[in-house]
Formats: sequence, C-alpha cells, structure tokens
Amino acid sequence: MKPNNNQFDVAIIGSGIAGSTLASILARQGQKVILFEASSHPKFAIGESMILETSEIMRSMAEFYDVPELAYFSSENYFEHIGTSHGVKRHFSYAHHTEDQPFNRDHTLQAVIPKQPHGHELHLYRQDTDYFLMTVAIRYGAKVLQKTNIQSVHIDADGVQLTTDREQEFQAEYVVDAGGFRSLLAEKFDLRHHDLPTHSRAIFTHMVEVPCYHEVSATKESYQLPFQLSEGTLHHVFEGGWLWVIPFNNHAKSTNPLCSVGLMLDPRVHPQQSELSPEAEFYQFIERFPGIAAQFTQAKAVRDWTRTGRIQYSVKQVVGDRNCLLGQAAGFIDPLFSKGLYTSLSCTSLLADRLLAAHKTGDYSASFFKPVEEMTLGFIQANDHLVANAYRSFADYRLWQPFSVLWLLGAYLELVKLTSDRAQTIDRSNYYRRLQNLRMVGGGFPEFERLSQQIYTLLDDCVTGASVTQVSQQIKAHLDQTSWMPQTFRAILNGKNHLPTSKLHPRLLRRKQGFFGTGDYRTHFFADKTLPFFIQFYLRDRAKYGSSVLQLKRTAKLWRRGLLPSPQVGTAIVSDWPSAIAISAMVISGLVIGPRMLNSSPNLASTASVDKTVMGLVNFLDNPTEFKLACGNHAGQVVDAQVQGDRITIKVVSGGIDPRRVTLTGSLNEQGVFNGTYQTELPTGLAFGKVRLNFDQDGSAQGVNEDWGGAIAILKI
Ligand SMILES: Cc1cc2nc3c(=O)[nH]c(=O)nc-3n(C[C@H](O)[C@H](O)[C@H](O)COP(=O)(O)OP(=O)(O)OC[C@H]3O[C@@H](n4cnc5c(N)ncnc54)[C@H](O)[C@@H]3O)c2cc1C
Repeated sequence: MKPNNNQFDVAIIGSGIAGSTLASILARQGQKVILFEASSHPKFAIGESMILETSEIMRSMAEFYDVPELAYFSSENYFEHIGTSHGVKRHFSYAHHTEDQPFNRDHTLQAVIPKQPHGHELHLYRQDTDYFLMTVAIRYGAKVLQKTNIQSVHIDADGVQLTTDREQEFQAEYVVDAGGFRSLLAEKFDLRHHDLPTHSRAIFTHMVEVPCYHEVSATKESYQLPFQLSEGTLHHVFEGGWLWVIPFNNHAKSTNPLCSVGLMLDPRVHPQQSELSPEAEFYQFIERFPGIAAQFTQAKAVRDWTRTGRIQYSVKQVVGDRNCLLGQAAGFIDPLFSKGLYTSLSCTSLLADRLLAAHKTGDYSASFFKPVEEMTLGFIQANDHLVANAYRSFADYRLWQPFSVLWLLGAYLELVKLTSDRAQTIDRSNYYRRLQNLRMVGGGFPEFERLSQQIYTLLDDCVTGASVTQVSQQIKAHLDQTSWMPQTFRAILNGKNHLPTSKLHPRLLRRKQGFFGTGDYRTHFFADKTLPFFIQFYLRDRAKYGSSVLQLKRTAKLWRRGLLPSPQVGTAIVSDWPSAIAISAMVISGLVIGPRMLNSSPNLASTASVDKTVMGLVNFLDNPTEFKLACGNHAGQVVDAQVQGDRITIKVVSGGIDPRRVTLTGSLNEQGVFNGTYQTELPTGLAFGKVRLNFDQDGSAQGVNEDWGGAIAILKI
C-alpha cells in the first residue's frame, strides 16, 4: 500500500517561538511532525526581554530532549552560535516617575542578573530567534510549510484533519494550536474570555538613537548601580502604566542599532487618543513625564508604530480530545515582568513530554493532557494578579517600593525551585513530574502564596480609600516578618537600590540569611539535598555553559566541518605547523593565539591523533562531572574543569575517610597530550608532581604520573 505522506503524529499550527520549539523537540524524539505557518520567516515578532526562569526552562528542554540549540537563547555566552543581533540583559531595572515632576533617581531599582554560572541573559531580536528555531525544527526532521494558512480543523475519535487555504488536506493524531493571538481553535470552540483584573493597551515600535538613560539623566556612579541602565531592560513606571526600553545595541559585539520601545497604558486611566496617530499619542503622552521624554528627543522609529486595544485574554479551556492551545494562543496578560515567554515555553516543555507519552499509549484524551491545562491557566492567573497589583502600586512610589520586593522574591524563588528540580532530577519523567506541580511566582511555595494574598488585599484597601502611608507600612511589615526571606531582599526593602552581582556569594548560602533557609522552606525548595550537592551542580553548570567551553565546542565543530583550516599530515607538517598549533590552541582557548606560539618548534606526530585527543578533551569538558580520576590506589570525583586562555584546570575531590582535593593544571602540547602538574592537599601539606594524559574521543583519558611512575586515568562513571 502507498504510504500516506500527509499523515503525521502531531500537526502544529504556527511557527512562532512556541510552535517551532515544540516541533524541534518532537522531531528530535522521532515523531512525525508538520508545522504550518501562515506567514514566512524572517518576520517581526514581539516578546524580547528574557528572565532567568525562561532561560532555565530553555536549558532544561535542551538537556532533557537532547536539542542543544534550545539553550542557545538563554545566555550571552552563545553569541558565537546565534549571531550578534540580540542585546544583552545584565539587569531588570525600574525607574518610578511622577507626572510633571523631575525624575528622582533614588526611585530606581536594579535587579541584577548574575553572570555566573550561565552568563548574562539576552534581549531577543525575535525575527532572528524565531527564524533560527524554525530551521532547527527542519534540521531535526519536521516538515514545515510556510505561507500556508490553516483554514479549518476537524477533530473526531479517529484523528484530526487540517485543511489549508490551498485546500490541501493533512491528517494527524493530535493538533497543537500555537497560532498566537489569532488562534483558530480558540475561535472555533469560542474559548476566549477577558475576565481578568489586568487592563492595559500597548503602543510600540523599534527605534534608533535611543540613548542610554545616563546620558539624559545622571551618571551610573551617581546612581550607585552596578551596571549602566542601557545594559539591561529599563522600565519607566508611573501611575496607570509603564514604558519599556529594550536595546539590542548595548554591548561591544552588537551588530544591531535598534532599540525596542513600548508604552503600556491602562485605558481606564489613560484612554486612547484615537484622533492622534499612534506615534503622536506616544510623544504627547511622554511629555507629561519630563524624566521619560528626555530619553526620546532624538529617537526615530524604524517601522510603523503598533497600537492595540486591550491586550489581555485567557481561555476557558486549554486542552480537548486530540487538541491543545499553546503559548499565546491560550492567553496573554502584559509584558511588565516578562512572563510571556516563560509561560509559553514551560507549557511547551510539559506538552512535549505528554505528547511523547501519548504516542506510546495512543491516549490523546483531554484528561491525559490536563496537567498542561492546569499549568497554563495557573501561570496566566498568577501573572494576572501580580501585574494587576503592580499597576495599582505604581500610583505611589511608597507602594511600588515594597511591592517590587514581592515581585523580586517571587521571581527568584521560582528560579531556585526550577534549578533545584533540574539538579535533583534522576531522569526526564522525574523532571516532568516535578514541573507539572510548578505554579508561577514563588516556586509554588504555599507561604509565598499566602504572603502575596495578604499584600494584594492591602492594595485593595488602598483602592477603597485607606491611606497610602499606612498601606505601604503594612506591606513592609508583612515582608519584614517573613522569616524565610533572604537578607538580599530585606536590604532592598530597607532602601538598597540593587541586587548583588554574584549569585554564589557565601552570604547568600547561609542558612538563616541566604537562600538555603530552614524548615518548610528548605524542604520545599531543596528536599533532603545538602549544600555541597548544589555547589557541585552549580560547578557542573558553570563548566557546561561557560563561554570558553561553548566557544571551544563551536570551534571544534567548525574544524570538523572544514570551516576552519585543519592541520596537515606528513611532510607538509613542518611548513604547516604554525597553523596546526594555532588551530589546536584556538580549539583549546577559543582565542586566536599570539606570535609566541606561532614560533614554536614543530614536532607533530599525526594531526589526526591531535584532532582525536582535542575532541576527547571537548567531550570531557562538556560534562566533566561524569568522570572520575584514578591514580594508583586513589580515586576521586571530577567536580569542575575550566579553560582559561590555553590553561586547563581540572578539579577532583576524593571521598572516603581521607578526602583530598587534587587540582591538575596544564595545557595541550603539540601532540594533543595534556601536559601539566598536579597538586594534592594532604594532611601533611601539599604534594606536587607532573602528569601526562592522552584523551580519547569519548572524553576519558589514560596517562602517567611522571614522578611516581604510576598510571593515572580519567574514567567515565
Ligand atoms: C506587546 C507585547 C510585548 C511582549 N513582551 C514580552 C517580553 O518582553 N518578554 C516575554 O517573555 N514575553 C513578552 N511577550 C509575550 C511573547 O510575545 C509571547 O509569549 C510569545 O511571542 C508567544 O509566542 P507564540 O509562539 O505562542 O505565538 P506567536 O509568536 O504569536 O506565533 C504565532 C504564529 O502562528 C501563525 N499562525 C496564526 N494562525 C495561523 C494559521 N491559521 N495557520 C498557520 N499559521 C498561523 C502566525 O503567523 C505566527 O507566526 C509580549 C507580548 C506582547 C503582546
């Protein structure tokens, strides 16, 4: 019988970030997937500011579904992989303004995004992000039809039938509607509602000539902030609304002059001025705030302004038999805390797990997919309450200041929970069992939910006439009495204007004052795991996502594909040795090396073996904690491996009653052999010696301890 080429396991409507991510995962996992896109890439899309939770979800999808590309948009460390049109996001900053008043720079908050262990985050230039992700889906085997609008979907007990605008027909076991705002299924089943407390509309565009806020206000030093305001997302907030400034041109590698600018207004406070063009309305509005208007005097829009009506919506139902709404098809609140992508991608991740399970059992019922619905609606609702109350607090800085601590605390606890879950995961199904219990904001910690409710109720009182001073003091008191709030946030509550730049500062790890905590808090976020367990996980992530390792892997990949000249073998070696050395060194250090190495004397055995050992080292560095080091009668766990310049450092801790720390430091020599020294901390003092190690393709290594003449090996656990 002729195979039916139009029959698929899963059909996805819409190749935005959610649809393409899902298609990549399913195709990578062997599903037959078709992805329909009404428009064609590259195309404008909004949703540019990342948050730590979104980046963490991207890493977990990359790891658990074996699609490394899904981590590419989680950090600046991936610039080599994704291009330099994206901006960096080193912080999330807020500047509170009062109408007709000059800006008071004490009303600024900078929530620093720590550089370690993953690197700072990104402002996504979405036309490039979405195009890239669609190509990933194609590369893994998804069939993608662009300029193909799905016009109708018929679902029955036997399957799904989709019809395009050219009247082509396709069949699938399941349909995912990732069609965004224009969701076909939401309309077909009349699912949308607007019964949501947040109420806002948007006016936005991309601009050039938007200066860093310090150029029109005061210097970074006078603000006493760790980073320039242009090095992250700046939110100007005021009564009844806020304005985003998301630059893509804010780092040395940038090749994109644009800056995303958008105004969000509560139409009940600031009704639409329909007689004005969107641009004229934007400029007329910001004139009310001298501190905001100053940033846009020279700015020019590079595309038409978009002006929307109210942008909030949700749905009564997310899943049905053989169908699911995903991402912005299911709902959207407001970009204030950048939770849109987090919602879209968390739900994508959970839906993928369910779809893979359903493929095995044939159970595509709504009840089997219920956890996706619960997560989606739970996230939309939690974000809605958070944002609606933030808008209320914008009315007066005395309210916004303590409210911002609630937001910050909730976001960081969420990140702690997500990261802790990944660290504790035994396998993929274990991770998704944990993820499906997550509720946005506060990592599902019941005490955090109680605290939020208390603060929201106090803001209700404010609306009904209670004094601002009194309400703000009560909010502060509730936060202050929270025993499990880490000291860092208490400092913000007491007036500090930024978070610390380092996540692994020893103070942050203290039980009483830091993140690690005690009692129910500790159990909720860390179960029975100890601090050393998480430090080891942190070091593993640093080794895996560090910029030198990522660069090293990329260079090795380019070398393998012949895009970097590879070293010559045989008699050509001598004349070509400088480039061979250069390439090995580049592979090791991720840098083009200087003249010192180019003058090295040639003594090359076989470049094929150099290639092999270098790849072995790359594989070892990819996940060093999968290895142990054995030397004579001793064995220890590799806890970290780093590349800096051409120096490689491998750290090992041996267990048992006589634990020792061993550090190997060295570099690859001309033969691709790791040549270096070891240092062991013994009870009697330090011991040193020389080692040589030959890496194999799989990342393991054999060698000698030259001083003791004994064997030394790096072995896969
Ligand atoms: C003003 C605004 C600002 C935002 N800012 C942020 C932010 O800073 N940070 C953040 O995290 N999130 C933000 N978001 C949210 C973010 O944009 C979304 O979470 C994300 O873009 C949703 O992606 P998606 O794939 O679900 O939908 P979309 O990107 O909308 O993709 C839907 C795709 O489906 C296609 N399609 C639709 N119907 C059909 C059909 N019948 N047949 C075929 N194809 C079809 C469309 O052409 C489109 O390509 C913002 C949202 C808005 C509205």
